[in-house]
Parts: sequence; structure tokens; C-alpha cells
Amino acid sequence: MPKGARDLQAEVLDKNLCTGCGMCVGMCPYIKTVDEKVAVIHPCGLEDGNCYRVCPRTATDLSQLDRQVFGEKRDDAVLGRHTALLFARAADVQVAGGGQYGGTVSALTVFALEQGDIDAAVLTRGNGGSYPAPRVVRSREEVLACAGSKYSACPTMTGFHQAVGEGSRRTGVVGRPCQVTAVRKLQGLAAGDGVPHLPAGTASLVIGLFCFWALDPGFYRWLAARVDPQQVLAIDIPLEGLEVRTAERVYRWPVDEVRPFIRPACLQCFDSTAEFADVSVGSTEYDPEWNTLVVRTRRGADLVERARQAGVLEVKPYPEERIPILRQAVLNKKIRVLRLWEDGQAAYLQVDDADKEQILGLEVQAG
Ligand SMILES: Cc1cc2nc3c(=O)[nH]c(=O)nc-3n(C[C@H](O)[C@H](O)[C@H](O)COP(=O)(O)OP(=O)(O)OC[C@H]3O[C@@H](n4cnc5c(N)ncnc54)[C@H](O)[C@@H]3O)c2cc1C
Repeated sequence: MPKGARDLQAEVLDKNLCTGCGMCVGMCPYIKTVDEKVAVIHPCGLEDGNCYRVCPRTATDLSQLDRQVFGEKRDDAVLGRHTALLFARAADVQVAGGGQYGGTVSALTVFALEQGDIDAAVLTRGNGGSYPAPRVVRSREEVLACAGSKYSACPTMTGFHQAVGEGSRRTGVVGRPCQVTAVRKLQGLAAGDGVPHLPAGTASLVIGLFCFWALDPGFYRWLAARVDPQQVLAIDIPLEGLEVRTAERVYRWPVDEVRPFIRPACLQCFDSTAEFADVSVGSTEYDPEWNTLVVRTRRGADLVERARQAGVLEVKPYPEERIPILRQAVLNKKIRVLRLWEDGQAAYLQVDDADKEQILGLEVQAG
């Protein structure tokens, strides 16, 4: 049955399940975002809306997305389809130094722009200490100005529609897993002529970030009571807790201080490694000068290999002993969400029975 903005409101926004990805906002003049909260400001009356279809919290069939993106179903129920798992970092010290960890995302984005793989990239700008903003970038300088993690749910994908509106036909995106899902859903629609203004190949490169949760704007108010937001240079949330860096010092708090600000939508998220991206990038939880790099599609593998050959990206094998640690963290989150799903929550999720069995079977082994 077709669904539209009214259903989006009832099933996602009213239930506080919105991830703040920004995809629906950029598609419709009647959907706006204020302080990272998405709202339908006017009833459009359409019974059948693309805003509903692209939402990462409306029905999301993982096997169908696997087939759309990879041509086949996943063979790894934990990390999703991938052809390589690596450590990586930018070879250029300026890029690496400005990056959150090894600067892999920025290095690949600059390389893709300079090689003409993409003609614009949709990124997220800010110092991490107050609301970030979507940015459509076209140069190395602009990419580097967006480096660093902002731990809230910036509606970055509004920038995707901006880029396309400005004439981009090979748009790159960097996004959280929910944003990657939204991009793939949009691509699926475009391939079926469901989005007239959007050529099917528009999202030419999708770089996904690992993300176990994002914080709601209450975090910025909490932080502003402790540190001048203008002075913040960078934020990180390693296992030890929250770190806020200014020119003078590094502030530290236990992670439990910020847990109350985790967006409810993130607690129902099944995908912490951006499983539908061309490549996914995260921390190593081990060496801050490197990233974890998951190579997923042929396009992703080609980009990484060319960047490596051009001396832009350094890669090395993922340490064998670290693989179970990564897999366990991802598995734990999936199990938590599957349990919620069994309780009637996370109803958007459509997981193959075989994958479900594999995941729950791994829980037994892990225990
Ligand atoms: C909300 C959030 C939670 C995360 N949680 C984890 C985690 O639990 N475990 C883990 O291993 N990694 C996590 N990451 C990813 C990690 O913080 C780094 O982004 C990733 O390792 C890439 O590092 P880099 O050095 O290549 O980044 P850089 O080269 O500095 O590039 C960072 C890129 O991230 C983009 N970006 C920044 N903030 C956002 C945002 N809010 N939404 C969308 N894009 C953004 C920027 O546009 C930039 O292109 C998280 C990221 C975010 C944004």
C-alpha cells in the first residue's frame, strides 16, 4: 500500500525514530529541519510519497538492498558484504593530521574529486562543539575544512539534493549508516524512474562512517555549560569516554555523561558499519593514526586501489587478533536490536531468517 508524509509523521517522526539523515528534508519543501529535528510543516496530501520511501526507518529489506548494491545477498551477517578489511590512513600529513583519525575519508574524497570520479561531495562541517551543517564541496580545501567527526545527527543529506540541484551528476556522499541507507533507497527509486529529477547514477561514490550512535542537540547545551563552543577544536569518544580538545587543554568525561543524549532512533539501528556503502571507515579502537577500512563494492575497491597506487592512501592488513573484537562489537549491537525487534520494536527492519539465525547463533558461540 502506498504511503506518504502522513505515514512518515505517524510511523517515524511521532515515534521519535527519525535519524536526522536529512534525505526527506531535501526532497520536499514541506519538510524542514530545525536544530536537527525533522518536521512535516504542511500536509501535502499525497498518499504516495518518496519522503516515506527513502526514510531509513521505514520498511528496510536488507537482502533487497544487498541485491541492489552488490548484485547478491550478503555472505557475512555481521559485517555485511565486503571484499577487504584493512587498516588505512592518508599518506599526506596535512590530510592525516586534520582527520579524525587517519584521515582516510578526507583522503579518498579529495582523490575522488581530483580524479573526476565525482564532481561534488556532500560533507558535514563544524568543530564538533555546536551544530554542524551540511556542505557541498568541490575542492581539496573545502574537503579538509569538513574533516573531523561531529557526534550529532546532522541532516547532511539535504546537501545531496542541493548538489544535484546545482548540476552535480557525479555526487559523492560521506554519511552515517542511516544516511547511506537513505542514499541507496533513493538510488533504488531513481533506477525505477521514481525520482524524475534524479539520474540513477547520481550518487557516484558512497563513503560510509561507522556509527554506533549519534547524540541529540541536548549534548551541545550540556557541553556549552562546560566549555565555550567557539574554543572547541575537536571531539572524540574513544572507549575511555568523551574527549573535548581546545587550544589550552583536553577535557574528559565518562561516556555515561553523554549517554542520555543518544538519539532514540540509534538504539534501534542494526547497521553500525554502513553496510551499503562503497567503502566504510571507522576508528581502529587501537591506533588513532589509522582507520578501519571496509572495502565493499567494486567501485570502492577500484578507488582504494588507485588511491594506494597514487601514494594518496596507505593500507596494511587488519591485525588478525583485532578482527574478533570488531566483529563482537558489531554483533552485540545487532543482537540488541534483534531482541528489540522480537519485542515488536525496530519494526522497520526486514532481516532474512538465515541471517537472523546466523547472528543469534554467533551470540550462543560468543557466550
Ligand atoms: C555520529 C558519529 C558516530 C561515530 N561512531 C563511531 C563509532 O562508534 N566507532 C567508530 O569506529 N567510528 C565511529 N565514527 C566514525 C569516526 O568518528 C570517523 O568519522 C571515521 O573513523 C573516519 O575517520 P577519518 O580520520 O577518515 O575522518 P576524516 O578524514 O576526518 O573525515 C570525517 C568525515 O566525516 C564527516 N562527518 C563528520 N561528522 C559527521 C556527521 N555527524 N554525519 C555525517 N558525516 C559526518 C565529515 O564530513 C568528514 O568527511 C562515528 C562518526 C560519527 C559522525
